[in-house]
Amino acid sequence: MPELPEVETICRGLQESLPGRRVKHVEVSWGGCLKNLAADQFQSRLEGCVFGGVRRRGKYLLLQLEDGQTLVAHLRMTGGFSLCPAEEPLRLHTHWWAELEDGHQLRFRDPRKFGLIYLLAPGQIESFPPLGKLGPEPLSASFTVSCLTSLLAGSNRRVKEVLLDQSKVAGIGNIYADEALYLAKVQPTRPADSLRPAEIKRLRRGIRLVLENSIRSQGRSFSDYCQVNGRQGDYAPLVHDADSAYCPSCSCAIEKIRLGGRGTYYCPRCQR
Ligand SMILES: [Zn+2]
Repeated sequence: MPELPEVETICRGLQESLPGRRVKHVEVSWGGCLKNLAADQFQSRLEGCVFGGVRRRGKYLLLQLEDGQTLVAHLRMTGGFSLCPAEEPLRLHTHWWAELEDGHQLRFRDPRKFGLIYLLAPGQIESFPPLGKLGPEPLSASFTVSCLTSLLAGSNRRVKEVLLDQSKVAGIGNIYADEALYLAKVQPTRPADSLRPAEIKRLRRGIRLVLENSIRSQGRSFSDYCQVNGRQGDYAPLVHDADSAYCPSCSCAIEKIRLGGRGTYYCPRCQR
């Protein structure tokens, strides 16, 4: 599932090439991904529009249009955008595409069909409920040690579950929660309010480090995710689903457990 680094990579790819391009025509082959409009409304409201800036908030992509509308996308399990010449063959599971005036197409593809697309009227983005519920951005300046301390305080939920809660911290999913806890040397099953100040400091650092490293590698390399240019990412997880199954630091076997229904990986020796 694309998490913050993958969504950020797609965001940067779109931001590099999309602003200023006009939509000539829109085709919808499966309208089920369109959550607030019927396919014909989506088409007519998007045709003729010029793309503005592209932003990310948590795992949401926000594609601004110059007329004030916003195209909001949540990729969920397998959603993704590509930008390619119109003559490139359409891949299976491409649910809609926008023909741009310069002969390229912006395509939305999603084999598992869990992705969400909204086309919001001008002004609607400010009060769009899913965005209002999101916690702080972990790479922002406001995500300080005291911010993380207060997010964990008074909660006896397991620390990994708090990290996965988008209303606490935005953008972290199953992979990067495991990676950040590994770097922080904290077991994922620890109650959130049991972390000592030094551990919280390490956890904040671990979260930022792992997200920055993955963004630098254009996201994780796995089959369901690719960048706007069609290439995969290069980030290889340290413990989560690691091929070696051994801790890169102490060579102890990585443990796999189920936590809240999610596969969870950690080193029983390094993480306490
Ligand atoms: Zn270890």
